[in-house]
Amino acid sequence: MKLAGRQSAADNSVNGGERRTAVGELAEAFDSALFLRAVEQCAMRLRGFLDDPEIKGLDLIEPAVLMKAARELMTSEKTEIAAFDGGRLHRIVDLYLSTGIQVHSPGYMGRQFSGTVPLGGLMDLVGSIANQPSSFYEAGQLPNVAERLMAEELTPLIGWDTETSAMVTTSGGSMANLTALLAARNRAFPGIWARGVAGSGGHPAVALSEDAHYSVDRAVGVLGIGAERVVRLPVDDSGRIRPELVGPALDAARDRGLDVFCLVASAGTTSMGSFDPLAELAAVTRPRGIWLHVDGAHGASLLVSPEQRHRLAGLAEADSLTWDAHKMLFVPAPCTLLFYRDGTAARGAFRQRASYVFDEEPDVYSAFDSGDRNLECTKRPMIMPLWTLWSVYGPALFARKIDHLCALTSQAHRMLDAEPDFTVLHEPESNILCFRYTPDGLTGADLHPVQLDLRNRIRADGRFFISKVDIAGVAALRVVLMNHRIDAGHLALLIDEIRATGNQVLRERAARDDKDGIQP
Ligand SMILES: *Cc1c(COP(=O)(O)O)cnc(C)c1O
Repeated sequence: MKLAGRQSAADNSVNGGERRTAVGELAEAFDSALFLRAVEQCAMRLRGFLDDPEIKGLDLIEPAVLMKAARELMTSEKTEIAAFDGGRLHRIVDLYLSTGIQVHSPGYMGRQFSGTVPLGGLMDLVGSIANQPSSFYEAGQLPNVAERLMAEELTPLIGWDTETSAMVTTSGGSMANLTALLAARNRAFPGIWARGVAGSGGHPAVALSEDAHYSVDRAVGVLGIGAERVVRLPVDDSGRIRPELVGPALDAARDRGLDVFCLVASAGTTSMGSFDPLAELAAVTRPRGIWLHVDGAHGASLLVSPEQRHRLAGLAEADSLTWDAHKMLFVPAPCTLLFYRDGTAARGAFRQRASYVFDEEPDVYSAFDSGDRNLECTKRPMIMPLWTLWSVYGPALFARKIDHLCALTSQAHRMLDAEPDFTVLHEPESNILCFRYTPDGLTGADLHPVQLDLRNRIRADGRFFISKVDIAGVAALRVVLMNHRIDAGHLALLIDEIRATGNQVLRERAARDDKDGIQP
């Protein structure tokens, strides 16, 4: 055996006679000409998807059926690298597009993620090929700079000083809420990181609205605070915290020995899109030294609109803000921005010893790292679609769309309110509206199951995708208008469809009750 033989990948004698070399075999999967053709064909399909004029919501498929269809698209080749099969790729893309909620169709009115601005998605493709995970400057230079630039653009809208505040991106609003609560907890209980909750020298507790997003309750659990140490704040009929009851609730909690360190308000509740009265809440939390976290996952984007930003009046007094750009800024999910009024509070918790990433003394480069403010290490450079759209179109793109969606939701409110067999549950404050189908005689115990049944049948019909939410324990129908292509005609069609489906549901229930001999 030769000691220092020059071994190149092209050296067939090393790789076994006439067999293709490993590098040769890999070449096709990394071939740029083939990639270009695949992109062109995929883009044509995406164009058809974007331009599809049909009103459709979701084609809900039984998982077993979809499993089978998807399995058939998998190559059976297990030992060699299978040759590229364009047809297979196209069938995968077609299946992907056709089985999703049709977020670009006017039939989509159900969830808080949106039909993205297509260029935002294109930037995600660029990021996926360039692959620059963004917690550390050296691994994602432009993404880290873009984060700073977006912070400079957005922080003044919150009312904070860009110099002393901080912003990080997180994979979703749930992660941002957890991160903010962690920072709040660690500021209030400086020993807790080392000694744990039991050794914190207090009884950490948080105050939450009855209508807070479930991710906040989850964060409370993850942080070891305990569900029993949640102080629930009562809400009004629109789901807004009643500020006059907050002071007494906090005093009562203190008398029970609880140390409430954080109050979480919602700027845009998930169920009704209502805004908690931030200025009044801050007037209660500030003198008590309680951190005010604003969960603006849904509604913080209204800050971009001069017409709508009054909904968040008082936000400048808060300590942290969760802002999902993948909701009302119309970029691919996830892209969440977490802001801290005091940038130093963002750090404390996260300087673990890890000599491979954290420098002892930050230099001009590592000063741009966000790894020391973030639970995540490798994360998507999720700012790039947002920053690119902002750079190309400016903020008015977002403001116009938000204004339009809010106006459209008010129109939906007027239309439903004029229908005698519908009950609208609140005056919309953003683009979410909750209502029930309530024809004569439908009351009490029947109200809940009929709305549920209705929602599931509408979804199964596949034309409109709407959601449901329990309000005061009773199911309601909910629309989230994310698509500017929806117009009054589509809303009228939805109302007709709900009425027709609702009557069907009621007829079937009556027939069943007759059969069971139930007297009305
Ligand atoms: C959507 C939402 C969340 C959760 O955010 P994700 O990005 O889905 O993790 C949290 N809070 C509110 C108010 C929301 O609307």
